[in-house]
Amino acid sequence: MTLAIDERTTSAPTQTLTRWLTDLGRALETGDIEAATSLFGVDSYWRDLVTFSWNITTVEGQSGIADLLRTTLQQTLPHGFAIEGDASETGGIVEGWFTFETATARGRGYVRLKDGLGWTLLTTITELKGLEEKRGPQRDKGVQHGAVEHRETWLERKAAEERELGYTRQPYVVIIGGGQGGIVLGARLKRLGVPTIIVEKNARPGDSWRNRYKTLCLHDPVWYDHLPYLPFPDHWPVFSPKDKIGDWLESYARIMELNYWGSTVAKHAAYDATTAEWSIDVERDGRPVTLRPKHLVFATGVSGLPVEPTIPGAERFQGEQYHSSRYISGELYRGKKAVVIGSNNSAHDICADLWEHGVDVTMVQRSSTHVARSDTLMELALGALYSESALAAGITTDKADLLFASIPYRLLGPLQIPVYAEMARRDGEFYARLEKAGFLLDFGSTYKSGLPARFWRRRLGPVLEIPAAGLGLLHRRWCVRAGRQRLNQTPQRGQRA
Ligand SMILES: Cc1cc2nc3c(=O)[nH]c(=O)nc-3n(C[C@H](O)[C@H](O)[C@H](O)COP(=O)(O)OP(=O)(O)OC[C@H]3O[C@@H](n4cnc5c(N)ncnc54)[C@H](O)[C@@H]3O)c2cc1C
Repeated sequence: MTLAIDERTTSAPTQTLTRWLTDLGRALETGDIEAATSLFGVDSYWRDLVTFSWNITTVEGQSGIADLLRTTLQQTLPHGFAIEGDASETGGIVEGWFTFETATARGRGYVRLKDGLGWTLLTTITELKGLEEKRGPQRDKGVQHGAVEHRETWLERKAAEERELGYTRQPYVVIIGGGQGGIVLGARLKRLGVPTIIVEKNARPGDSWRNRYKTLCLHDPVWYDHLPYLPFPDHWPVFSPKDKIGDWLESYARIMELNYWGSTVAKHAAYDATTAEWSIDVERDGRPVTLRPKHLVFATGVSGLPVEPTIPGAERFQGEQYHSSRYISGELYRGKKAVVIGSNNSAHDICADLWEHGVDVTMVQRSSTHVARSDTLMELALGALYSESALAAGITTDKADLLFASIPYRLLGPLQIPVYAEMARRDGEFYARLEKAGFLLDFGSTYKSGLPARFWRRRLGPVLEIPAAGLGLLHRRWCVRAGRQRLNQTPQRGQRA
């Protein structure tokens, strides 16, 4: 394979990357694993999202890459590598997008070269050949012109599908959980023409957001939050209030025509290897239904499940006592005392809300928490990928997601350390005041690599911004008490929340 390069009009990084891709393509097409691995440095990484491995895989170093190729190259048959747009060069790293094909799929990738050799390579699947989504020129006509006997309208077809699917006709896929994960997967399957039912115990799409406390807003900015196919309009606020995002999810599910079974609880699932089918018992509006799909997906969320520690003596406490997932508003507690156990986002939002309603509130912190000021985080950590300026530079949410995915986890931590060091420097005075108020801080345990690695390693949430007036408020009204021993103290009988 040779890609033509016009050296008069092509930038040097684009020429370098085009040559590297030509060499990689030739090695892969001829099955020359040794030639392919020699194009990578000793310190190198290949993240494959489905195209070669049918899985999400990261291999490291020349030997890892050779292993991946030995097990996948013969059936994958990659070819047609072509640079997409221009490559760029920063700090000696040449990087850029490319497209390619395999025997079964079309893909897109991103590569970074260090000293002319592959450093990080990302390969992702865009579509399966022969199973392309119906879009653009392939879209349905939507109308049958002329006079047609027994014509079925769109609404009649839709009503028939809702009546039959799951009863007289089985879905191919069942997704348990109709939060945003279940909804977007449902939308993808709908576009692929795969009969799917989403089973959700809440009544309506978006309820998992609506049911949270009144003041909740997404902590991630809008550029990070777009769902596939239907972007938010460009006046959408940077941080979506929770009821607004709930309504968006509900509208999205309707526009994408998803078969969404609200008020339906999945109770039991078993796989029958002889029929290659799942049998899933659900209760829909109180009535039992058994679904028999070929595939079952759990989209039941990672952060939604309440974690409720056992606190000795809690049963003797006479005030109200509940998990933050059941907190709605401080309206009911004006003039009372409250203790919030925990010190991450929900705890801070709830403390601020209680304070706003005239409640004397104490926050109990057991161990250190990472705090990032929202503006600083947006500028230093997210801005290059998810911001208005990133968008102006052509980095759409799709591209940003892939660029983020292109960084292997082993590199992610070290690459983030300078970002969080700068955050600590820039907001030094803010952090000093927090510590003075008794708040235990960290920047991601051992590695000081901040938010993402901390969340992925330990599922520990950060605090994005200290709400309301911040420190003055924290110091005056929220008494932060650190230490496990306070948690173990038994509250006095008669003490009220
Ligand atoms: C207070 C709070 C604030 C958050 N803020 C952000 C943020 O700003 N940005 C961000 O990216 N993430 C945030 N998160 C994380 C958030 O949970 C996820 O981003 C998002 O909701 C994940 O979507 P999901 O579809 O994976 O899970 P969920 O939204 O949790 O959806 C899972 C669904 O599964 C349903 N379910 C579970 N079991 C069953 C069953 N047996 N039968 C039927 N249905 C079932 C649940 O009812 C639920 O609706 C926040 C989480 C919380 C709790």
